[in-house]
Amino acid sequence: MNKDTVTIIKSINYSEADKVLTVFGREYGKFTVFAKGIRKLNSKNRGNMQTFCTSEIAFYEGKGLPILTESAPVSSLNFDELNVANIRRISFMLNKFLQDYDPYPKLFDALQVVLQKNLEIEVTNKLRIKFLKEMGFLEDFTVCKYCGGNKGLKYLDTMSFALVCENCYSKGNGKPLGDNPYASLLLTRTLDRYIKKVVEEI
Ligand SMILES: [Zn+2]
Repeated sequence: MNKDTVTIIKSINYSEADKVLTVFGREYGKFTVFAKGIRKLNSKNRGNMQTFCTSEIAFYEGKGLPILTESAPVSSLNFDELNVANIRRISFMLNKFLQDYDPYPKLFDALQVVLQKNLEIEVTNKLRIKFLKEMGFLEDFTVCKYCGGNKGLKYLDTMSFALVCENCYSKGNGKPLGDNPYASLLLTRTLDRYIKKVVEEI
């Protein structure tokens, strides 16, 4: 029997009572697990395995997919307050970037923090940037693209997705990020496009 703490990142109905769940585990990384009978009303696992819930699970290796046996909830989302667009942003990234059985415990922990904050845009964007860096799709995002300085990073080069400082912004097409860069619509949209482009090139 194997155990892991996992966040459910995708859920597909299978036959009348079953589901195939894609999970991001702290120990095992991304993998798929077969949840037999989970759609039945009396299933004890039912409430613990909704998308973006985090649970401790037990599973065993079957002939095909690993099979879920037990689950205990660690945290669930308050769906009333959720930003659906940000759920989509994060789930897109997790499903596209993570390779099966390739663990990233640091990213798993960072995801838990974002889930606890109900996927606010600022933490969502910070997580997405952290992911890109960890996966090798983004260079240092803490310094100016032109001078390498880390002060006055108030502009974004939207073509290359890089920060530009206030001394250098006239050199390229840096656009102002405003007072709260990570929550700005400019950064959010540019990041959406950048991630889409990276996914298309993988
Ligand atoms: Zn600069």
